[in-house]
Amino acid sequence: MGIFLLIRLGAFLLIPCAYWSMDLLNYSQAGKSALLGGLAVLAVSSWSASRATTRGGVGSGWAIGVVTPFVFILAVEAFLRDFFGVSHDDGIVIEALFNSNGGEAAEFVIANSRGMMKHSAFFALALLLFASAAWASGRYHPLTSGRSLGAGGRSKRRNWPLLTFGGLFLLVHLNPTMRKADPFLYFPIRYAKWEYEIEKTRQLQEQLRSTLSDPHLQSMQYAGEGARTVVFMLGESTTRLNWSLYGYPRETTPRLQGMADDLLVFQDVLTGFPGTDGSIKQIFTPATLQKPNLWAKQPDILTMASRAGYKTFWLSNHSTDRQGAVSIISSHADVTTLTNKGGSRGEGSYDEVLLPEFQRALDDPAPRKFIILHMLGAHPAYHFRYPEPFAIFDDAEDDITRQLLEQGRAPWAVMLRNQDDNAMVYMDYLLSKMIDMARSHAARTPTAWLFAPDHGEDVAHYTNFSGHNSRVRSMYEIPLIFWSSPGFSDGTFDREAVRARPYQLDVLDNTLLGLLAVRGDYYEASSDLFSPEFRPGARTYNNMPYP
Ligand SMILES: [Zn+2]
Repeated sequence: MGIFLLIRLGAFLLIPCAYWSMDLLNYSQAGKSALLGGLAVLAVSSWSASRATTRGGVGSGWAIGVVTPFVFILAVEAFLRDFFGVSHDDGIVIEALFNSNGGEAAEFVIANSRGMMKHSAFFALALLLFASAAWASGRYHPLTSGRSLGAGGRSKRRNWPLLTFGGLFLLVHLNPTMRKADPFLYFPIRYAKWEYEIEKTRQLQEQLRSTLSDPHLQSMQYAGEGARTVVFMLGESTTRLNWSLYGYPRETTPRLQGMADDLLVFQDVLTGFPGTDGSIKQIFTPATLQKPNLWAKQPDILTMASRAGYKTFWLSNHSTDRQGAVSIISSHADVTTLTNKGGSRGEGSYDEVLLPEFQRALDDPAPRKFIILHMLGAHPAYHFRYPEPFAIFDDAEDDITRQLLEQGRAPWAVMLRNQDDNAMVYMDYLLSKMIDMARSHAARTPTAWLFAPDHGEDVAHYTNFSGHNSRVRSMYEIPLIFWSSPGFSDGTFDREAVRARPYQLDVLDNTLLGLLAVRGDYYEASSDLFSPEFRPGARTYNNMPYP
């Protein structure tokens, strides 16, 4: 009995140990799986060892079946840590797991196929290792070796290992963090918690909106004169490192460069969070890097703008805006239009579907309008983000491809860069078109237009990796551009000084309130990019000081 169990336990424990020694898992991830999985292996093996009917192949099959989910969770955690530098409980993973849909999931698989293949191979190898050991241990099976067969009276004694190991397995579940590591409870526990928190927040926000219970919200008033339109274009997965407007050698933003004299191109802006949900919570609410939970407790700027007499619009091509935290914020607009009806891969999901919605909002007779456009931008997979005529860098042989190849990038990494740059050109086309639309509208109403993406992207900038990578600077370094009609502001600020201001998007709500001329307790002039009282704050990326 002893050797039989030891071989199986040893074979299983090798798997978390191997992940840990390659630094694909930390000791806590590896340790919890080792303890839980180890006890499960001992329990199922001692059970099969005690019965003649489950000897040999059947018993091994049971052991492999029980071990598979544990190895699967190890593989998932290792993939996330290896490719994205995140732990399985990071907000960004929870968001991706539960605030996604079929289309986005399929795109994730396409965009990350290489990483998934690597870790699927590890998964298969680990299972093969355990399966071989499970078969090999059959030689020492107590019923095969004939050592523990005896009179019927002994059967009770044969049950004690199962009771001991099974009991211990259940006992460690009393610890909540161990419970969360159980592969069978892994997703249900996290989903229930996520759903509970979203629902709780939704109720709290409803209460804030519909009552006069918050005196700070009461203080938010329109301090401007007459009519005004403020447009905020929220992009997606765009680093300024890939914009020729910021010096990238490829012509990715020719149209914006053509109108550069009219634009304020901010030189030194970071996002606060490397994922859509987390970034949106910081941008649209008083939440900051230091106080990320305020998004749930305090009103968002759509609610503030409404109170101050604005008609608010949330026009989105993001198919996931109908779920999770973003759905709470977007539902606070007077008009919420989600143009992306299907998964995000469909033909109709190019961001140009926002153009007619934008025109309709501009034509709305309300005197004060706050229009938010949420683009799919360059969200992976990149080649779904632009129509064919914009695929101008496919098969490019220029300084960028040469430089990437010299840096040792794989051909597929270069291909992804080319596709991402195509998406930049399409974005340039749409942004310039939207500025033109805002310009015509400004003949009637003073208008301001601001663009920033939710975060940057890593497109083979440092390694072959392309995608969301919270460890690198390109994930945080973003473009921020501004256009306004001559009648919009008194124009007293020094444009040169303002465009050099170091800024981070976690406090962008103050800049937006500033443009809306909504003042009160939730407005901090020191965090408003355009205010004479602006003071730069400390900035961080990946929990490290920036720069
Ligand atoms: Zn995003």
